[in-house]
Amino acid sequence: MKKQQFDPNKFKFLFSLFISITLTIFVILSLSVFARKTYKENTLKQDESYHFIAEGYSQSITYCMENYYSLLNRYNVAELFTDTTPEEIQNTFISHKTKICKDFNNIFFVLPDGNAYPINGIPFNASVYEYYRQIVKNGKEFWTTSIFADQISGNYVIAIAEKVYDTNNNFAGILGATIPITALEEYLLQVKIGEQGEFLLQDSNGYFIVHPQKGLLFTAYVPVQTSKIKAYSSKEISNLPEGRYTSVSYDGEPIFLYTSKVDETEWTVEIAIPKKQIDEAYILQQKMTVIIFIIFVVVMLLLLALEAYTINIFQKKQLLTTLYDPLTNLWTRPHFENEANKLLRHYQNSKFMLIECDIRGFKFINQNYGEEEADRLIVYFSKLLLRYTKEANGILGRGFADHFYIFIRIASVHQAMNLFKETTRQLGEEIKQYEIPFFPKFGIAFLVAKNKTKDSTIQSLIGQASFAKSTIKDNMLTPFSIYNSKLLDKINDERYIEAHMQEGLENNEFFVMYQPKYSLVTEQVVGAEALVRWNNPKIGLMTPDAFIPLFERNGFIKKLDFFVYEEVFKFLQNRLLNNEPVVPISINMSRNHSKPDRFMHDFMAIFKKYSIPPKFIQIEILERSVMDNSTLKEITELLHKEGFTVAMDDFGSGESSLNMLTQIPVDVLKFDRTFLVSSTLENGKMNKNSADFIETLIKMSKSLKKQTIFEGVETKAQRDFLKNIECDQVQGFFYSRPLTADDFAELINSQGTSEQ
Ligand code: C2E
Ligand code: CA
Ligand code: CA
Repeated sequence: MKKQQFDPNKFKFLFSLFISITLTIFVILSLSVFARKTYKENTLKQDESYHFIAEGYSQSITYCMENYYSLLNRYNVAELFTDTTPEEIQNTFISHKTKICKDFNNIFFVLPDGNAYPINGIPFNASVYEYYRQIVKNGKEFWTTSIFADQISGNYVIAIAEKVYDTNNNFAGILGATIPITALEEYLLQVKIGEQGEFLLQDSNGYFIVHPQKGLLFTAYVPVQTSKIKAYSSKEISNLPEGRYTSVSYDGEPIFLYTSKVDETEWTVEIAIPKKQIDEAYILQQKMTVIIFIIFVVVMLLLLALEAYTINIFQKKQLLTTLYDPLTNLWTRPHFENEANKLLRHYQNSKFMLIECDIRGFKFINQNYGEEEADRLIVYFSKLLLRYTKEANGILGRGFADHFYIFIRIASVHQAMNLFKETTRQLGEEIKQYEIPFFPKFGIAFLVAKNKTKDSTIQSLIGQASFAKSTIKDNMLTPFSIYNSKLLDKINDERYIEAHMQEGLENNEFFVMYQPKYSLVTEQVVGAEALVRWNNPKIGLMTPDAFIPLFERNGFIKKLDFFVYEEVFKFLQNRLLNNEPVVPISINMSRNHSKPDRFMHDFMAIFKKYSIPPKFIQIEILERSVMDNSTLKEITELLHKEGFTVAMDDFGSGESSLNMLTQIPVDVLKFDRTFLVSSTLENGKMNKNSADFIETLIKMSKSLKKQTIFEGVETKAQRDFLKNIECDQVQGFFYSRPLTADDFAELINSQGTSEQ
């Protein structure tokens, strides 16, 4: 019957959690890719602009230098270099000295052979100079040199030099000038492009021509190497192509150097940008990414919370849970409760009746006929219930297994009960037509103005009806129970009983009655069952129904069992000693004795105090005990070993199947009273289907070599029927009610049976 229910909400929630996590991962990935890309793009853009600036500087420097060249060009007159001696040329220069550009430190003329004639100072050999090499050897038209120290002044200078020709356009020599770095720098510093970065200029040896710190002019820079980045020296950078290089500043700050070469020189322009400045842009970007991500996660979480919240609301409104029971198509219990609560709210001043119903021994049906048959029965029963519920304008739902719930708006309790009784009578008639005998029982709770409280919910009504139903015992003649405050009194009674049970045992308030068992062959008393009674001074005489279920719950039943056993042993011992006739007595073993060894030990300890042949003792073990089959088997075998017989009590009321009986070696099957009650028609005759079923059971028991006894035989018809189908023994009011020890003794004395 059990069908695993899959919770769709849980699934939905997990699914969306999965989706959100996937989405979040996706967003993180794409954000980081995006960030990386934009960082790259941005740095590229930045790089480009710094390169552009560097290039701008280098071009401006070229223009500046062209200006110097045009000043030098004033002396580049072809006639001056035609048919003249170097001394004449030198003298001409000197006589025009005043016209010379003030930045020129010296002006000189170099013959192709390398002999040089300056304005200031004496002639010198220029073939060792860079400009001579570049113009004479490398064929350059002009050349601007790196820094060198001037021979005369000792100042650091650079030289500009150009090739000159005579009137016949023949190579006549080199015209050159030296410019002090300090003057050059001052001049070049007029070039200023933008605010970003520091502008530096260095020659082919890495010596600075322009540097923001004057003290560092015409020195080279060798950085302190750090492990973090490759720090290039100015010399290295001079020899490297244009590009971006890393280094560290004098204060150890990492910097980027964007370089550009100056045309027709071996000079390099550098734009120095602190790495921090570039990183700042990146960090800002990173911050933005993190903020976007946090916003995204927060939004995701909010959405998830919103989803959980709405699912919760939907769930409360029962929009998502299954509304219909797949087997019967009836409402599920949650749906039923929901609809019933709606009625409660809508008809605030009405009276209501709630019925909880299930089928007696449904587990037995399930086991013996199989799940499929049990399901078929449930469907059949649900259809009947639905028809009658509709007739009464009520609503119906199905809970677990054989549990059904009915809720009806009623005019009065009296009227409702009349209708209920008539309906259950009709229902009972219809059910009898069904091939498998089954018997529903009903718990009823009413909601009327008198007992209405603020928390009168459908759940509390179901609770009351359930409780009422649980009080229906074996008395099948009234298969229903109505919840009332008296039922609550029962709880209070239980408290009293619990407080006085020990005292009762000590004061001998408990005593044993004997209900005879009769043979259907000889019609003679062939045994008896010992049944306990309690005569309490306050409550009066109680049958076991009033206290045994409670004793089973609190464990006191074990003590009481042994008290009864000892009473029975005393009774038998007495009679045996007096040579009076005896019959075997059945004693009940409660379901609490779940440890066979322990039970046997305690049982034998008492039994051995008496000298009674064990064949006079039969132990009745409840079919519905907590024992599993192997424990049941073990205890039966242990009892057999000591010579006792064992009966399975209330057979048919529990879950055991006939199949199971082949494995458990009990001697007697004691059929449950409900077999007879439910098979007996109004006119006292036996229902055909049930009768056939019982006959089959008896035949099967015989084939398994089990003795059969029926309890609860109340009528002649029942007795005759059982005799007819060859049931061995009966126990019931038809023959005798439970008797006091004295009455029972008298009965067997009169019968004169000494032994069975
Ligand atoms: P049970 O073992 O099935 O005992 C048979 C019950 O059916 C007895 O009820 C008996 O009085 C009742 N009965 C016998 N013939 C008829 C009949 O023709 N019609 C009807 N309606 N009832 C009949 P009782 O004595 O009230 O005992 C109820 C249950 O309490 C017993 O059911 C048994 O389970 C338990 N019980 C009784 N005495 C003891 C005991 O000493 N120890 C334990 N552990 N359980 C006991
Ligand atoms: Ca019994
Ligand atoms: Ca019984």
